[in-house]
This record gives sequence, C-alpha cells and structure tokens, in this order.
Amino acid sequence: MGRLLLILLVVVLLAWLLRRALAGRGRGAPHADAGVPLVRCAHCGLNLPKTEARSAGGRHYCSEEHWRLGPRDG
Ligand SMILES: [Zn+2]
Repeated sequence: MGRLLLILLVVVLLAWLLRRALAGRGRGAPHADAGVPLVRCAHCGLNLPKTEARSAGGRHYCSEEHWRLGPRDG
C-alpha cells in the first residue's frame, strides 16, 4: 500500500511539473512582448513600451516627472 501511494505521488508530481513547464513557455515575460510598440520619451529620449508611457499632445514621456517637465527640445 505504501509503494502504491509513493507511485501515485510521483505521477502527480510529474504531471504538475509538466503543466508548469508548458504554461511557462507559452506566457513569457510581459515586458518582452513584441506586440507593444516602443515610443520615445520627449524629454530624455528613453525608449519604452507605449502601454507604460504617459502621453500628452501627441508626445510620450517615460515618467510623470518628465511629463510635467515637458519636451526638452522645445
Ligand atoms: Zn524621460
């Protein structure tokens, strides 16, 4: 009975590991998503994903501080 329980435990563990490996491969890192276009901060020139940028007047900024300071070249 003890051996059967051990086998069952190993099978469950293997299934869990396999499922975790498959899930990890399909997801990937959210910041490495190629579907999000990069924009340039109008103040410091930093490139960042559009979803993380602050936008104002057709310009993009990397942070709230740079958004407040505005574009550096004008
Ligand atoms: Zn900036």
